[in-house]
Amino acid sequence: MTEQYKMQDPTKQYRKAGPDFEQQQPPPGIEQKMTPKPDAGQETYVGTGRLAGRKAIVTGADSGIGRAVAIAYAREGADVVLAYLPEEQKDAQEVVKLVQEAGRKAIAMPGDLKDENYCEQLVAAAVEQLGGVDILANIAGMQQFVPEIAELTTEQFDDTFKTNVYSLFWLCKAAVKQMKPGSAIINTSSIQAYQPSPILLDYATTKAAINTFSKSLAQQVASKGICVNVVAPGPVWTPLQISGGQPQDVLKEFGAKTPLGRPGQPAEMAPAYVFLASQESSYISGETLNANGGMPTP
Ligand code: NAD
Ligand code: MG
Repeated sequence: MTEQYKMQDPTKQYRKAGPDFEQQQPPPGIEQKMTPKPDAGQETYVGTGRLAGRKAIVTGADSGIGRAVAIAYAREGADVVLAYLPEEQKDAQEVVKLVQEAGRKAIAMPGDLKDENYCEQLVAAAVEQLGGVDILANIAGMQQFVPEIAELTTEQFDDTFKTNVYSLFWLCKAAVKQMKPGSAIINTSSIQAYQPSPILLDYATTKAAINTFSKSLAQQVASKGICVNVVAPGPVWTPLQISGGQPQDVLKEFGAKTPLGRPGQPAEMAPAYVFLASQESSYISGETLNANGGMPTP
């Protein structure tokens, strides 16, 4: 049996945080420079053909949860358009290689999701270079903590909303025009939508917006045979958290307050995105799948 399916104690499957988690990089953060490295499932994820022949767009595909999802989608048989920021090229190259090693096409598309035109280009690239778009996994996100509202600039508030919410609007708008029945949109919320940290005012607000956006859109496009769902992670060890997402001194305790007592790893998020992209979730739309170490949600 492969590691992916081995029965294990989830409290011990991955380590707890510790003093070595205390590290800081400028945003957007580079996964290659993190120690310890997040687990994107490259050693463990085994596909079973659940997305054979599908054409997917994955944003934030260079690192963290997006990287784990891109690897999983490719190993499940999907070709992937990878969206990421130009400064993340080195992280993205590793993912391109892993997708290709899975025998699938990888279309690398660096750019800024705050730009509507770029969002449209991502969908156009899937249509022109892969032949369509069946899966849109919106995983990119911006999180910068600011303790006081007086210090939160309009520029940051704008950037957080543009990156986390407007890009969803633009990408969904362009993708829905192309999607055939059976297609899936998966958006990324957070435990922050329900338990907002005082230092993440702008970010937490966007995550609540993403839940509501998804529930509305899900009803709107259901008759077209398109399902829209959400994954809401809890604390997951990724570049987002060590590049301004959290104050450095709290990282040694990262994930300690979850019932499972440890942070999650990107590899533990990917199966949720696979399920919601596959035919196995055919009667599920407008739902949020919480993958957060056991924290209660509404
Ligand atoms: P990550 O840093 O690996 O991924 C975020 C990605 O967003 C970056 O790699 C970058 O490519 C992309 N991005 C940010 N701004 C962009 C822009 N303007 N244009 C294009 N791309 C941009 O971190 P992650 O934790 O894997 O984040 C993925 C998603 O998971 C985010 O939506 C985040 O809010 C969500 N999330 C993460 C956690 C966590 O604890 N890590 C918890 C809940 C939700
Ligand atoms: Mg990144």
